[in-house]
Amino acid sequence: MRCQLAIVGLGTAGAAAAALAAERGLDVIGVDGHALDGAGAQWVNGVPAWSFDQAGLDRPLEPELRGDGAIFHLLGGWGPERVTMSGPLEVDMRALTSRLHLQAERHGARLIGTTRVTGFDGGGLDTTAGRIDADVILDASGLAGINLLRQPKVPRGDLCVAAQGVHHVVDPSGAMAFLKQHGAKPGEVVCFSGIAGGYSIVNVRVEEDLKEVSVLTGSIPGAGYPSGVQLKERFIAERRWIGPMVFGGSRAIPLHRPWTRIARGSFASIGDAAGMVHSAHGSGIAMQMLAARLLADTLADGGTPWDYNVAWQRQWGGLLAGADLQRRFVQDLSTRTVRALIRRGVLSVPILQDPLLQKLPRPSPVGVAKALPGLASVPRTVRRMLPALARGEALALHYRSYPSDPGELGAWTRRLERIAG
Ligand SMILES: Cc1cc2nc3c(=O)[nH]c(=O)nc-3n(C[C@H](O)[C@H](O)[C@H](O)COP(=O)(O)OP(=O)(O)OC[C@H]3O[C@@H](n4cnc5c(N)ncnc54)[C@H](O)[C@@H]3O)c2cc1C
Repeated sequence: MRCQLAIVGLGTAGAAAAALAAERGLDVIGVDGHALDGAGAQWVNGVPAWSFDQAGLDRPLEPELRGDGAIFHLLGGWGPERVTMSGPLEVDMRALTSRLHLQAERHGARLIGTTRVTGFDGGGLDTTAGRIDADVILDASGLAGINLLRQPKVPRGDLCVAAQGVHHVVDPSGAMAFLKQHGAKPGEVVCFSGIAGGYSIVNVRVEEDLKEVSVLTGSIPGAGYPSGVQLKERFIAERRWIGPMVFGGSRAIPLHRPWTRIARGSFASIGDAAGMVHSAHGSGIAMQMLAARLLADTLADGGTPWDYNVAWQRQWGGLLAGADLQRRFVQDLSTRTVRALIRRGVLSVPILQDPLLQKLPRPSPVGVAKALPGLASVPRTVRRMLPALARGEALALHYRSYPSDPGELGAWTRRLERIAG
């Protein structure tokens, strides 16, 4: 078989790339080791609405859409301290991925499930269903995939192990009592943070009809904490109103700056394979849809994988590198510090709302002024936080100057490492 773009992996990243590239007229073949309906994430993810618009994809509708930017209570530890914000859309990833598969096929892409890629070279792929020759090969095979660009192994301390499940509610009165205890209503998110290391969460959303509850957990076990899987099991075992799981899953998420190079020759990468995760909360979907848009437009307009790399790094690299600084700062905080920062108004809506929706943090002057008295009361934390904020700004600027000449990448990367610290 021959095509212009061969895609390895048809989870959300590969599926979005297939849909958008085929729509722009490219001849696309995609393969996945799983059957197509088992490809990629099998759980519910929070995805900001703006990323669908900017990627040129329709926003999800029910039943794919399970929550429409619900009120989001971020609690320090198990509370009561809290910051109340607007959350992202809650999206059933099984439905989103299958919508993208259909969209790709409608525009002529050939998608092949239950087919593994076993080898590759600059001209194509060897698969369990035969050879695919291609002009461009896209690695969308995730963290544990083929590693087309030979990226380094992600250290355990930079891996979040997350679990998410939609469970039956077997005792609605127990669910109501839980919500009342934590000052929330059905349909709202209660997100306990910093319960097993500064980075960890247990995020709970009881559906408005009280029939189902979503439980999402994540932590960094490599830093010596229980994993997201263990946190979820423990949380559910202690709450008898939560019944058996309807669907869900668990996996590791890479938390680091995006790889400094996501294309070489005829190879390119996207999604978890490219380290495209907003690591402040381990979110990959928005960034991979936006990358799919850039890749499709670049190739359709006659550009190369390297052009895609340059465009992506300049547009989104700085946001993700800044998010990774936020993650590193938060990761070392104790539960006590997280609670104190919320109580004293340092972690507040103007500081947290933008990162929650994967935007560059741009707190208003009023928001900063409100945080100032609290900042004075936690000088040690401030000494660490202010340089991280300043470095975030410098990183955003630096990524805008990502070199178009690959020969200048070494010097650019050394400067990046100096800024990021
Ligand atoms: C529990 C949990 C909760 C999460 N919550 C959020 C959230 O709220 N918001 C958010 O944005 N992100 C969230 N994430 C992260 C998000 O789910 C991932 O970033 C995303 O699913 C990665 O997509 P991907 O397409 O890059 O990779 P994957 O989903 O890993 O897909 C890769 C595909 O490649 C296939 N593949 C691998 N190797 C081969 C091969 N050799 N041959 C053929 N096919 C191959 C695999 O079968 C797989 O289908 C969460 C992750 C977890 C685990």
